Order: sequence, then C-alpha cells, then structure tokens
Amino acid sequence: MNEAWIRALVALPFGLGVGSFMTVAVHRLPRGESVVQPRSRCPSCGAEIGARDNFPVLSWLLLRGRCRRCGARISVEYPLVELATAGLVVLAAIRYPNPWQAVLVGGLLALMPGIALIDLRHRIIPNRLMYPSLVLFPVLIVLARFIGEAADPVRAGIGLLLYGGILFVVAAVSGGMGMGDVKLAALIGLVFGSLGLRFVGAAAAGAIALGGLGGLVALAMGRGRKSAIPFGPYLAAGAVVAGLWGEEIASWYIGRFL
Ligand SMILES: [Zn+2]
Repeated sequence: MNEAWIRALVALPFGLGVGSFMTVAVHRLPRGESVVQPRSRCPSCGAEIGARDNFPVLSWLLLRGRCRRCGARISVEYPLVELATAGLVVLAAIRYPNPWQAVLVGGLLALMPGIALIDLRHRIIPNRLMYPSLVLFPVLIVLARFIGEAADPVRAGIGLLLYGGILFVVAAVSGGMGMGDVKLAALIGLVFGSLGLRFVGAAAAGAIALGGLGGLVALAMGRGRKSAIPFGPYLAAGAVVAGLWGEEIASWYIGRFL
C-alpha cells in the first residue's frame, strides 16, 4: 500500500473522533453548555444516546437518521459535520508526509467546519474553542520544532501578528467584524506561519477571494450589505484552501507576479 494511504488510514479515526466532538460543540457551545457533560440525548424524547448509536456517521446511517427510541428525525447536519471534519483531517494526512505538520494542519482544519457553522448560525466564534486552541497549537509548534524539526515558532509568531493584526485593523475600522474573527485569523496565521509565511498569504488570499465572491453572490441575489454573511466562514474556507493547496497557490503567485 502507498504511504499516503497508510497515513490516511491512521488519520481517519482521529478525524472521526474530532468530528464527533465538533458536532457536540456546534450544538452546545453557543448555548453556553458543557461539551463534556452530560451525554448526548435525543432532543425529542430525551433518551440518552448509547455508545453504539453514537459512532460517527455510521450510527446515523444505520439508524437511517432517526432516534432508536422515538423515531424522531436526527438532523443530517450531524453526520455531515463529522464527515467534513474527518475528511479534512484525512486530506491533511495525505498532503503532509511529515507527521508534525499533518497534526498541525489537520488539527486546525478539523476546527473549520464547526466554526464556520457556528458563525453562520449564531454570528459568534466561541472563545471556548479559540482560547484552548491558542494555547494548544503554540505548544504543538514548539514540540514540532524541537522534536520533529518541522515547524518554525518565530514565523508562527509573525504569522499570528500579521493575520490577526490585519483583521484587528479591519475590525476596528469597519465595525462589521468581531474579535472572534481576529482570534480566528490569529490562530490561522500562527499555524500556517509555522510552516512558512507563504501559507498565511494563501489563507488570506483564499479568504478575500471567496469573501468577494460571496459578497457578489449576495448582491446578485438582492440581499443588501447589511444581511451579508459573517466573515468567519470565509476565514475558515481560506484556511482549508491554504492547508490543501497553499504550496501551489504560493508558487503560482510568486512565479506570476514576483
Ligand atoms: Zn428520541
């Protein structure tokens, strides 16, 4: 078997595990509830969801999207968030042969579908995801530097200040952007900066291009600027673009314009 496929197989259970956590986060964090306790319950009948019915994606398929006890529909959003999260972790593992870099990029991308969904729905990016991440990823980057020689903490710091700083200025000037966006950009800048600042550039370019496209679509559909969708999902999409195609985008850009 090809090495990339072995990496994908190793990454898959982690991706599904994080995906399962993120579905819980999507539903509980905006309400201020704990992501640890209590166990998940059916929103209709209150039945606790047992371990065998709580397996990512598969349980939903086996139960055909219904509660085992009362038969109430379980939103397709649960398996979709799990699938998207796991898919990004697996793609990162395929893309980055270095395990440290795969963990850094996979870990960051795993947060993106859930964060985008929470921001779309509630217009917030929960601090309870951002603060632990802004502690955990620097630790990972330092470990990656000194054990794996696979990350650059100084560039990570520059990336954080650059991307976070730009968003901070935009937020201060426009007022249309929140501190959640600033923290998310800082985190994205931190992780991609540790791989090389060209990845931060690719993430920013992706966010701006997709954001512009989204704005045009919203205008074309007759939605005013006031109802424009939040910028967090574009930051998240830009991170996905940079994580999966950052190297290609950077070399294309540098070859063409510099
Ligand atoms: Zn039920």
